[in-house]
Amino acid sequence: MSRLSFSRRIALIFCLPFLAVSCQKPQRPPVDLAERNFPERIPAPRQAEENLSSEQTPLPAPNETAPDIWDVSDVDISTVDKTKKLISFTFDDAPSRTLENILAVFAAFNEQNPDCPANATVFFNGYLFDAHSTQTVHAAHALGFELGNHSQSHLDLTTLDEATLREELDKTDALLAKIDGKPKHLFRAPFGRANELVSQSVCTPVISWTIDTLDWTGLGEEDIYRSVWDGRFDGAIALMHDGYTNTVSALKRLLPDLKADGYQVVSVSQLAKAQGQTLRRGKTYGRIRKPNHAKTN
Ligand SMILES: [Zn+2]
Repeated sequence: MSRLSFSRRIALIFCLPFLAVSCQKPQRPPVDLAERNFPERIPAPRQAEENLSSEQTPLPAPNETAPDIWDVSDVDISTVDKTKKLISFTFDDAPSRTLENILAVFAAFNEQNPDCPANATVFFNGYLFDAHSTQTVHAAHALGFELGNHSQSHLDLTTLDEATLREELDKTDALLAKIDGKPKHLFRAPFGRANELVSQSVCTPVISWTIDTLDWTGLGEEDIYRSVWDGRFDGAIALMHDGYTNTVSALKRLLPDLKADGYQVVSVSQLAKAQGQTLRRGKTYGRIRKPNHAKTN
């Protein structure tokens, strides 16, 4: 997590485009979304949905050590209001054509709402990194976004042998480590498909979702907005994608409306830490509620 102050993060966000222009603006090849056969664009089979159930573990006692616990000691929740309902926004298939727009929406909202700044987790595919898009990933990190691993090539990892699977994970972790300095990152499986070998190989929590906006299907702004709004609850994780302008438009309404409804939008690791829940490596989480959620939700 960057230790930069919020105002300096904002300054970095708005300065980066100018820096890029001054350095012979790199040309980024357009991403042909039609050629990208993404898993999330296929309705999850029944069995896959059942594998997406959340598993939560209360915080360990002080001094208790467990090697399978996801370390959130460096996750900054100083800006998270634990008295609010919390919801995590996640964006898959990044970095793509709208990541800069997504960052701009968050930056503008945070500038206007310093009492309730919004954050998110972005899941990246290594094959999409180039000179320009890598700059945008740096900007996402500078804004405070959590960087997550969505594999190198966006393949169905359940079809791969162990060596190839390991390569798919390690390549993207290495790219992200150059930006945030962390060796491992929260993982979201392409197509939401993970088997025992994938879970064992990941070495981090596997992040699923409770709200599927289906934004990749070409839905309009109102439908994307409505799926998040109608599906919201304290501890929910919403799935969106980088690459769709209607998603960006929906975000412009969702951030202020959720705040007005008593929510704060956070990253997944912020959600876990603020909710007082421990995430374990190899386990799958689609929601992260407070331990006493039955009484409060
Ligand atoms: Zn994906």
